[in-house]
Amino acid sequence: MDERIKIAVSSPVQVGGNIMSPEQLVAIGTLIGPEGKIEITPFRQLYAEIPAHREREIAERLREAGLEVNPSGFTTKSLIACNFCKGAEEAGLDIARQIDAAVAGIPTPAPLKVGYAGCALGTSEPLLKDIGIVKMRNTFDLYAGGDPKGIKPSFARLVLTGLTEQDLVPAVLKLIDYYKEYAKGKEKFSKFVNRVSIERLFLIVSRTIR
Ligand code: SF4
Repeated sequence: MDERIKIAVSSPVQVGGNIMSPEQLVAIGTLIGPEGKIEITPFRQLYAEIPAHREREIAERLREAGLEVNPSGFTTKSLIACNFCKGAEEAGLDIARQIDAAVAGIPTPAPLKVGYAGCALGTSEPLLKDIGIVKMRNTFDLYAGGDPKGIKPSFARLVLTGLTEQDLVPAVLKLIDYYKEYAKGKEKFSKFVNRVSIERLFLIVSRTIR
């Protein structure tokens, strides 16, 4: 029997949120075929099981249909962004797309979720993500260590405030790089943040951008 793998399929970061067109859903169903399974994850990705030898072809055709394709498992997930209800410019659609392109699919010690909200109402729940970004008028606040799982969930805590658009991608990548370098085995990001401390992360990220 053919080896099967899982790929992560998602809609692009866009005004309106996590929307797929009927044509995109047909493309997914047609390419995956009747043998494949599709799992709806709680983090804005569909996990599709496909034959390993067709990975490249299927990924290319899904991208042609306007979808994003990333590895599943121990990676940074696609950006979990809000609906940009205040409009693309006001809510920061461009920078959210840049963050998504920079982080989605990076191999990490444990699965890592990055959340983005275009205003302080935070309807995408950024403080319940491993890394959270909130747009505050013309600057951004960066949070780390949120964990909604278990009976003792925790909110992400503020690492840096007043970040500019130019700071944002390097700051988020620095957090991910530091986690990859110093995590113990498969340590969850929230545990890692508690162990190394928010103060330490503040210093590490500050040095990168200032
Ligand atoms: S976080 Fe703000 S801009 Fe984004 S959908 Fe929610 S209310 Fe709208």
